[in-house]
Amino acid sequence: MQQDHDIIIVGGGMVGAALAARLGNAGFSIGLVERGDAPEPASGDYDLRISSLNARSLAFVKLSGTTLPEERCCPFRHIDVSNQDGTGHSVFSAADSDMDDFGLFIENRALQHALWERLKELPSVTCYTQSAPTSTRATDATRRVELDDGRTLSARLVVGADGARSTLRQLAGIETTSYDYHQRAMIINVETELPQQDVSWQVFTPTGPIAMLPLPGHRASLVWYDTAQNTLAREQLDDEALKAAIEAAFPKRLGNLIRVVAHASFPIKRQHAKRYIGKRLALMGDAAHVVHPLAGQGLNIGLHDADTLAEIIIKGRDPGDYLNLLRFECQRRAANQAMIAATDSFHHLFTGARPLRQLGDLSLHLAERFPFAKRMMMQQANGLNPFKMW
Ligand SMILES: Cc1cc2nc3c(=O)[nH]c(=O)nc-3n(C[C@H](O)[C@H](O)[C@H](O)COP(=O)(O)OP(=O)(O)OC[C@H]3O[C@@H](n4cnc5c(N)ncnc54)[C@H](O)[C@@H]3O)c2cc1C
Repeated sequence: MQQDHDIIIVGGGMVGAALAARLGNAGFSIGLVERGDAPEPASGDYDLRISSLNARSLAFVKLSGTTLPEERCCPFRHIDVSNQDGTGHSVFSAADSDMDDFGLFIENRALQHALWERLKELPSVTCYTQSAPTSTRATDATRRVELDDGRTLSARLVVGADGARSTLRQLAGIETTSYDYHQRAMIINVETELPQQDVSWQVFTPTGPIAMLPLPGHRASLVWYDTAQNTLAREQLDDEALKAAIEAAFPKRLGNLIRVVAHASFPIKRQHAKRYIGKRLALMGDAAHVVHPLAGQGLNIGLHDADTLAEIIIKGRDPGDYLNLLRFECQRRAANQAMIAATDSFHHLFTGARPLRQLGDLSLHLAERFPFAKRMMMQQANGLNPFKMW
């Protein structure tokens, strides 16, 4: 049977491109199928889509030989979590976990572009842009993918990293469970009088958290979770009215706003694929799971999927070996399920009914009182083993 690549990856977003770069760097022949074009470099104003990369994600990206654009990255050393009335407050510092920082914030497009730049340098990676799969079929030794540009590709493993609405997942007949939080996240990029660096903070309010993600210089990405109705109404405000609404709702520590640069909003849903694997097929990233973004972990757990699968493939002989795929599913489903449960509890504890919110306040108190528990939570959030103490 003709075989074009060792591995075909459908979806060249941050997770798919990171897996392609890691495996291409290890010498595997990779076909990367992306519906869109190769990403453009990030320049000018910061993009609205920002993600935090934790220690494990950064180590994984580095292993592929990818260089991130330092000037567009903002490392952060403290995470400050509180509630609106001030009865619960906890500050997590990287130094408490013997780390220089917790990771960094980077625009999604800057990370994706850096990964694609690395792909261009790797001779064993072929990118098929403006292509999407229309059907797929597995034999014992390979899986074929028919593309909408008329091409047919085959490989020993096909990976679906094509996002929450994954075509590959649908073509493989894998169902999902989902939950609608009935919330929207409004992302607002602002220019501030104060330099917004070093700390990322989040304040829980009864309708959802408000958060500040630092960007280099006097820029910040604000995230305002609220009901769909309130958010859509806020979207209609002009920049001056929105600026006034932010100054009224956000804590004083944000300081004066110079201007609102850009804004958009996204519905908040959770989704989990019932299976991550099939015959010579694996799903990862948002194609496999979508979590509430309040803990900033969606991309991180997608990159941890890619890290786990890459290690299994590099150590094994056949990238699509079913037992190896089962190992991938077992390891990652347990970790991702734990993250879904954690983000779900945060959501319900801090935006639920009053007794639940009191429990949430108590959990912040306890985190502050017990450095051991705090350190474990931070290790977990960084994708590190929380039980490894030295
Ligand atoms: C408001 C908000 C804030 C967030 N903040 C954070 C954060 O701080 N930290 C964090 O870790 N995560 C965060 N996330 C989550 C994070 O953005 C996602 O988990 C991440 O983008 C998933 O990456 P992915 O590569 O799996 O999917 P995507 O980014 O969706 O990429 C999928 C890729 O596949 C391509 N594609 C789609 N369909 C096809 C097809 N049929 N054929 C070929 N290609 C296809 C797309 O063009 C795209 O390039 C946030 C999410 C939201 C909504």
